[in-house]
Amino acid sequence: MASDCLFCKIVAGEIPAKKVYEDANLLAFHDIDPKAPTHVLLVPRRHINSLAAICSEDAGTMAELLCAAPTIAAQLGLTNGFRTVINTGPDGGQTVGHLHLHILGGRSMHWPPG
Ligand code: 5GP
Ligand code: ZN
Repeated sequence: MASDCLFCKIVAGEIPAKKVYEDANLLAFHDIDPKAPTHVLLVPRRHINSLAAICSEDAGTMAELLCAAPTIAAQLGLTNGFRTVINTGPDGGQTVGHLHLHILGGRSMHWPPG
């Protein structure tokens, strides 16, 4: 755990969050400032700074993360599709330095993103 990391604190239960899914390695919870009718953040329990910081040893975690996304989307009733986003670094719009996959749905998404 990174002691100054917001999502590590959520994983540790030190900061409350509205959980929607959890397993041995992953946790998903509602975004505090939703950008769509459904907006969930899926994180590895283990601290990883960002997508830019992953290495081959993280391949299993990344596979679990991607495999869990459609399961969670289905659980949330996103039968008409959903958007997944990983913001990476300052230009990518990352504001929390713990790898997270956004799962957004409940409305039609636009492309290209802003
Ligand atoms: P990023 O901008 O790094 O891709 O995404 C960070 C997300 O974390 C943002 O969508 C933001 O609304 C969300 N967020 C920030 N602080 C909190 C918090 O304390 N609790 C929850 N549930 N989400 C948060
Ligand atoms: Zn963390």
